[in-house]
Amino acid sequence: MGLGNYATRQLAPAFKETHHCKLTGVVSGDPAKAKRWSDEHGFAPENIYDYENFDSIAKNPDIDVVYIVLPNSMHLEFIERSAAAGKHVICEKPMTVTAEESRRAIKACRAAGVQLSVGYRLHFDPNYRALMLARGTAPSGQVRYVQADMAFPMGNPNQWRLRKALAGGGAMYDVGVYCTQSARFFVGEEPIAVTAQEIKTDPVKFAEVDETIMFQLEFPGGATANCTTSYGFRSNSVHVDYQKGWGSLQPAHNYGPIQGVLHNQPLEPRKFSQQALQMDDFVRCIREGVESEVSGLEGLKDALVVDAVYQSIANGSRRTLIESV
Ligand code: NDP
Repeated sequence: MGLGNYATRQLAPAFKETHHCKLTGVVSGDPAKAKRWSDEHGFAPENIYDYENFDSIAKNPDIDVVYIVLPNSMHLEFIERSAAAGKHVICEKPMTVTAEESRRAIKACRAAGVQLSVGYRLHFDPNYRALMLARGTAPSGQVRYVQADMAFPMGNPNQWRLRKALAGGGAMYDVGVYCTQSARFFVGEEPIAVTAQEIKTDPVKFAEVDETIMFQLEFPGGATANCTTSYGFRSNSVHVDYQKGWGSLQPAHNYGPIQGVLHNQPLEPRKFSQQALQMDDFVRCIREGVESEVSGLEGLKDALVVDAVYQSIANGSRRTLIESV
């Protein structure tokens, strides 16, 4: 659903590398584009929907899962409508634009008896995962500190990512969630407090959304994280400090190969289709009736941190407590 950049350049090719998934239809506001997808991917033109007639997908047995790849503020509506149609859902990040919306999304899917997951592809990249798996094992021990950055210079000033009504927020929503994900994934706990700062160098371009946000997280076991996200410059790295030794990734959050070092040993820069692994794993979860590692709950936990980041900035407070799930 939503045949834009990510769907076209990443997800469509990834389908060809999956073992358990097949593209059997699309939802698009552009009939000509949808027809091209039907020709290219070999599904029936009857399996093309638009945003108005979408609900009739309920009667289509060819379609088990809806993958939502729309501007952020449209996610909740289509999670709820997919659930009402009895379809499992993968929703792109950020799952919703507030924690309250995430709770509604989870509730709708639970009530309909369908599974909800988020497009957190990095969980399925073995090199990214390696730094998490080292935690709690010899020689690493527990994680004491995580540094996570994800930033890129925003080009086109006319795109929806700069419009609050469609994006929800700026860099923090779009790529800051890679930092919240990394901090939570590598520490292995839920943060209890956040302190955040905002910097805006271009108030015209970023009139509606945030440009640069730095935030620090405090974890119950004593670990801390320092994160930076921006639409003003380039940064894409992770550093994990264990009780003994450290690991680092650069680039850390892109489509791969994720490269880095763990305990002075280079990680082999292998290229995986993170999206194919992610989609196949969701099918496994549906078949086995188990919750995905990247279920809607992960989306909610990140949304709680994002909400707290914005609260800390709005209140000018050094420390904001994060609401628990
Ligand atoms: P694009 O702008 O390239 O595509 C969005 C698509 O949504 C459009 O092509 C359009 O598809 C549809 N759409 C429906 N209504 C609107 C509207 N009012 N304005 C704009 N588009 C609309 O965005 P991306 O593909 O880059 O991002 C989509 C989602 O995917 C976002 O939530 C983003 O955060 C996420 N994403 C995730 C990535 C990841 O690595 N996990 C990477 C990149 C993006 P149509 O013409 O078919 O209706």
